[in-house]
Amino acid sequence: MRVSIVGAGYVGLVTGLGLAEIGHDVICVDLDQMRVDQINAGRPPFYEDGLDELLATHAGNRLIASTDLAGAVLQTELTIIAVGTPFDGEQIALQQVEEASRAIGRALAEKEDYHVVVVKSTVVPGTTESVVAPTLEEASNKRAGRDFGVGMNPEFLREGNAIADFMEPDRIVLGGIDARSQDVMAELYKPFTGVEVLRTTTGTAEMIKYTANSLLATLISFSNEMANLSATVGVDAMEVMRGVHLDRRFTPIAEDGARIWPGSITYLEPGCGFGGSCFPKDVKSLIAFGEQNDSPMRLLRSVIEINESQPTKMLELLGRHFSDLSEVPITVLGMAFKPGTDDIRESPSLEVTRVLLARGATVTVFDPVARKPSEEIFGDQVRYADDLEDAIDGSQALLIMTRWSEFERLPSLLRSDGAQPLVVDGRRLLDADSVERYEGIGL
Ligand code: NAD
Repeated sequence: MRVSIVGAGYVGLVTGLGLAEIGHDVICVDLDQMRVDQINAGRPPFYEDGLDELLATHAGNRLIASTDLAGAVLQTELTIIAVGTPFDGEQIALQQVEEASRAIGRALAEKEDYHVVVVKSTVVPGTTESVVAPTLEEASNKRAGRDFGVGMNPEFLREGNAIADFMEPDRIVLGGIDARSQDVMAELYKPFTGVEVLRTTTGTAEMIKYTANSLLATLISFSNEMANLSATVGVDAMEVMRGVHLDRRFTPIAEDGARIWPGSITYLEPGCGFGGSCFPKDVKSLIAFGEQNDSPMRLLRSVIEINESQPTKMLELLGRHFSDLSEVPITVLGMAFKPGTDDIRESPSLEVTRVLLARGATVTVFDPVARKPSEEIFGDQVRYADDLEDAIDGSQALLIMTRWSEFERLPSLLRSDGAQPLVVDGRRLLDADSVERYEGIGL
């Protein structure tokens, strides 16, 4: 199928490359000319495992990037909307979705053949039918359901694992305004045999995405609240959670006796909080949406409140050893909100780094891939280490903020170096007794 995708960010580009990989011809459209040029030159505009290889294979062949949205719509049969849907401080900001819908609608006015427009951006329930479809109708002077189809197909990929997640989906949710729209969407994913496909309404598809993200965010904040109490009363939250994990409702035992460790368990561990471009803004948007619909989201309010105070725990642990941070050399290890990506949006590291700077610490930051975005935020206020060895050099405290496996080298590195900085482990990555001076969340 010939597919156009509006928005060549994390979701749009990964989706485009995934669709190219399964045999579709894809045009990725973005407003950002530099991004378009990079994609066409086969250069990844952001870091994501495996992205460079897929781009090398498909850029200029089955996938091209362009700024010409109308041209892309006219040359394709289906258009996916994958633009940003940030939280504007009060509610979900739909301007990018509206703008993209208007532009697609104007192009549809010129098109004779049936076309399907699919919302992949995360949008609050009702958006596809009450914002996107009417905008398309108005701009095209055509009727949704008669002249063109409209669908909602939420994306569940996780940054850091995005390509694998796209290529091996857990499920495919196809929300459509009618069966014809769903049929065309189903055609797109036909090569994924054996994957559960859920055909439903657009509103249900929208709600599935928010419910899934809110549940995962809730598990994290729940674990962190328990971790904070555990630490206060002198028990180790890791041990507590291990005891909880061993309930076979969480970790079933297979017929051969082996225990199955589902991915959801990783959300039930102590840590310094969630970040990224999805959980914080999606949960906040849903809270606002609930309130607009007379359904107060009391639990989710607490999820956000707990999460926003969690980076402070790192500073409290540091404060046990340093009463004054002024000119103390401190290293923040990990800027990305999770390993495998250079995305630092809403990363807890940002808050921790800001507070360290405000308290006069001499801050070094190190992230294996997220140096550039960090430089864009902190400029010359911090020192950027080139590698882990450089990062720990002369530092009095190391704050592990991201679960990069590279940081597991720390104990041996510190032993050979002879240095004994304090390690504050925000991800419980290291054994407490593997370094001389250790503090950890939930310990
Ligand atoms: P992003 O900010 O990385 O990318 C959005 C892109 O859209 C940008 O490159 C921007 O230039 C482009 N854009 C905006 N308006 C445009 C227009 N009118 N025409 C052409 N291009 C336009 O965002 P993202 O992280 O890819 O997220 C996109 C959507 O997918 C969001 O709704 C997000 O919630 C959802 N989502 C994200 C993830 C994730 O892990 N990042 C996972 C699932 C769902």
